[in-house]
Amino acid sequence: MCDMHLLKRAELKTMQSFRLGSIFGFEIRVDLSWFIIFFLILWTLTAGLFPENYPGLSTATYIAMGVVGTLLFFASLVAHELSHSLVARAKGIPVEGITLFVFGGISKTRMDAESPGDEFQIAGIGPLVSLVLAALFGLIWWWGRTAEWTVAIIGVVRYLAAINLALAIFNLLPGFPLDGGRLFRSIVWKVTGSLKKATRVASWGGKLLSYLIIAFGVVQLFGGNLLGGLWLILIGWFLNNAAEMGYQQLLIQSSLEGVRARELMTPHPETVPPDLSLQTLVDEYFLRRRYQAFPVIQDDHPVGIITLNQVKETPREEWKVRTVENTMKPARDSVIVRPDEKMTQVLQKMEESGARRVLVTQNSHLVGIITANDVASWLRRRRDLEER
Ligand SMILES: [Zn+2]
Repeated sequence: MCDMHLLKRAELKTMQSFRLGSIFGFEIRVDLSWFIIFFLILWTLTAGLFPENYPGLSTATYIAMGVVGTLLFFASLVAHELSHSLVARAKGIPVEGITLFVFGGISKTRMDAESPGDEFQIAGIGPLVSLVLAALFGLIWWWGRTAEWTVAIIGVVRYLAAINLALAIFNLLPGFPLDGGRLFRSIVWKVTGSLKKATRVASWGGKLLSYLIIAFGVVQLFGGNLLGGLWLILIGWFLNNAAEMGYQQLLIQSSLEGVRARELMTPHPETVPPDLSLQTLVDEYFLRRRYQAFPVIQDDHPVGIITLNQVKETPREEWKVRTVENTMKPARDSVIVRPDEKMTQVLQKMEESGARRVLVTQNSHLVGIITANDVASWLRRRRDLEER
């Protein structure tokens, strides 16, 4: 079970999640994959751990213990994530909410910490909360044993102490993007003064850790622990991906640092009028040019974007009667930026809206267009030049 706070929104796009509620203004969401782990834990507790450790109780008791244990475990996980979110918000970092998924929880934020000190505190609070919870449940367990509470309650409390301790220890492992990896990164960042260097080192840590977890999983698998082994391999694989993505994302961010929209845009893009029929658009524009989309201009102002995909989605027999205007994505639903806007911001807007292209306007006149491909090829060229 791990948690990877501060993963960026883009990485979570594919997740199918629904809203559970909100605490302190943070939206708590549950990903569909979360149900797998929920029932896996419920089953492990009800049919395995509790009957083995506390024999002689009724099936109903084991089920009740399992349900309470599982729910409180997830409450502990939410408390861990909430602590990250609260500290992040206190440091001025906008937090979108918390999502629980198959590998644990994620606090989604819109940006990274601005200083190593902030990052240290944001990352450190999570394991600290888990440790405090472990100590708290440990105390209750000790108290319950002394006061001779029923074994059903003592069993659940003991499990919660152990699982919170495990959560704290696992998250303190020094592999980015685990909390421990972030603590490690913030220290290297503080010492070297370079976030890029620190992220590189911490990502190596994350990858090394992921290979160790996978190797351990394989050993478990061949040792007969099929489920545990597979589970470790999956976690290791996920961690490996996350470590790589975190580093790539930082490379992009740092390459775009100080770059403005005007430097990356294609200036004076070819445009189309709104009253054009789709048939003419296809014949005169899409088949004769290499572009996948055109800005639509009326009276010298951009009113929308028409893409090849939108045309493809329109039945062919309607191409002669339908116009660009009633097929295009209107400008008000499109991403529009100024020429002097920072590229890091432009990219963030593109990620948030899922837009593949943005219009660049000045005084409501179109001056350029930026596509996702433009950004990618610009980054490639820049990396090429740096490697020489
Ligand atoms: Zn955490």
